[in-house]
Amino acid sequence: RNTLPVPNRQQDRTAEEHASPSLHNHGTFTNTPDSDPSLAANRLWAQEIADQIRAIREYGPYTSLEPYQIQTHTQLNEVLARAQQAAGTWQAKSLQERAEILHRVGDELARMRGKLAAIMGAETGKTLDQSDPEISEAIDFAHYYAQQALGLGDHAPVVPLPRDITVIAPPWNFPLAIPAGSTLAALAAGSCAILKPAPQSPYTAELIAQACWAAGVPKEVLQFVHLDEGELGAQLLSDPRVDQVILTGGLETAELFLELNPDMRLFAETSGKNALIITDSADYDEAVKDLVASAYGHAGQKCSAASLAILVGTAATSQRLRDKIVDAVSSLVCGYPDDLATQMGPVVEVPGEKLRKGLTQLEPGQQWVLKPQQLDDSGKLFTPGLRAGVKPGSEFHLTEYFGPVLGIMQAPDLATAVAWANQVEFGLTAGLHSLNPSEINYFQRHIQAGNVYINRGITGAIVQRQPFGGWKASAVGAGAKAGGPNYLLSLTSWRDDYTVA
Ligand code: GLU
Repeated sequence: RNTLPVPNRQQDRTAEEHASPSLHNHGTFTNTPDSDPSLAANRLWAQEIADQIRAIREYGPYTSLEPYQIQTHTQLNEVLARAQQAAGTWQAKSLQERAEILHRVGDELARMRGKLAAIMGAETGKTLDQSDPEISEAIDFAHYYAQQALGLGDHAPVVPLPRDITVIAPPWNFPLAIPAGSTLAALAAGSCAILKPAPQSPYTAELIAQACWAAGVPKEVLQFVHLDEGELGAQLLSDPRVDQVILTGGLETAELFLELNPDMRLFAETSGKNALIITDSADYDEAVKDLVASAYGHAGQKCSAASLAILVGTAATSQRLRDKIVDAVSSLVCGYPDDLATQMGPVVEVPGEKLRKGLTQLEPGQQWVLKPQQLDDSGKLFTPGLRAGVKPGSEFHLTEYFGPVLGIMQAPDLATAVAWANQVEFGLTAGLHSLNPSEINYFQRHIQAGNVYINRGITGAIVQRQPFGGWKASAVGAGAKAGGPNYLLSLTSWRDDYTVA
């Protein structure tokens, strides 16, 4: 990504600005730049965000979720009835009108950059270097889907008919980009959206709803509901008025959704156990930088994260490469996002059984290169874990832990490395660091993953350039790729309308 040429310190907008035309050039889609930390004003801005994160953690968020609380079956029934009633009006708007509103959502989110970074940091422990690009991604989704909405009229003789109600069930690990992207896609495709935030990050999601409403999305067209995941959640997911559900979460959650309602039209992006393969032809410095960012960014809590480093051939036994990895990982500064020096933040909650195992237990033949240390009594702050001796077929090889722990595997050749990467049930992201064209070619032809990266980290897919979505058990239901050309179409029902001349 490029960075902003001017300071992007955020201020509250005036009434005059409110009426002003959209900030975005609506003609061609371009990715929104991240904030440029080399600018003095942005460094001051970053410090303000850090201070706000501390304040929110100490005194609580500035808003209340009270107005969105759904506590009874009757209230939930009313939510669905309102959406059903509103669908006709939303669908009667021209594609241009819908696109214009979406562009305005993007502009709203851009104005809220500071607020969003602060609340995300407070809710999920995200450091600014992680939240800032996530905000750019959310803005990108708004402008990209606006542009894609205009194209919905271009599929003659296929007519994409909107589906009335889409339920959005996002995760907490990308508390902004994923709920915003899913909601905006549904709206762009002509659907009413019911956004049910992850329990860990409802305040970030509430700001998405605020941005949409301020941009002109009617309150009935996007409803934000804060409800218990138990009985009311089940009611929402099994109501016949709901046409489709967009879920991002663990594979078990997708399975649970389908158990609740086997007829559900589900778009689920689920788990991953992703490998970054490094061969002896790689530029080791580049490879290590990308490996560390992919494995430990947001403390490893990304579906896309690298949790296996498969070193190939002489790279597998290279002391030089091993030292570079160990130096880079052990020098990560661990802490909280209210300290700008922090490079790796906490995990979102005290680890459950699975992650605890990943952070503490070795299997036969494995060794800790860097054993995770708990840094305080929160139970959430760890130093990065690095284990070696991970064998194919072992529990560590095949399990998604969703935390700051990386395992090294040593493969005799690239074919073996690719086979090991493919041996996991998931197929979300995968990467290769190699400067050898025939290796790159082999990898591209044989790797089984939805997002494949060469000589780049394996997280941080960019809207339009790297549409995101997995293969195999990383996708359940209709596995369309978010931020890509077919996504909106997949959220509609197609009909062929032949005009008699
Ligand atoms: N889109 C994100 C990325 O490319 C990952 C999303 C997820 O963790 O579900 O890193």
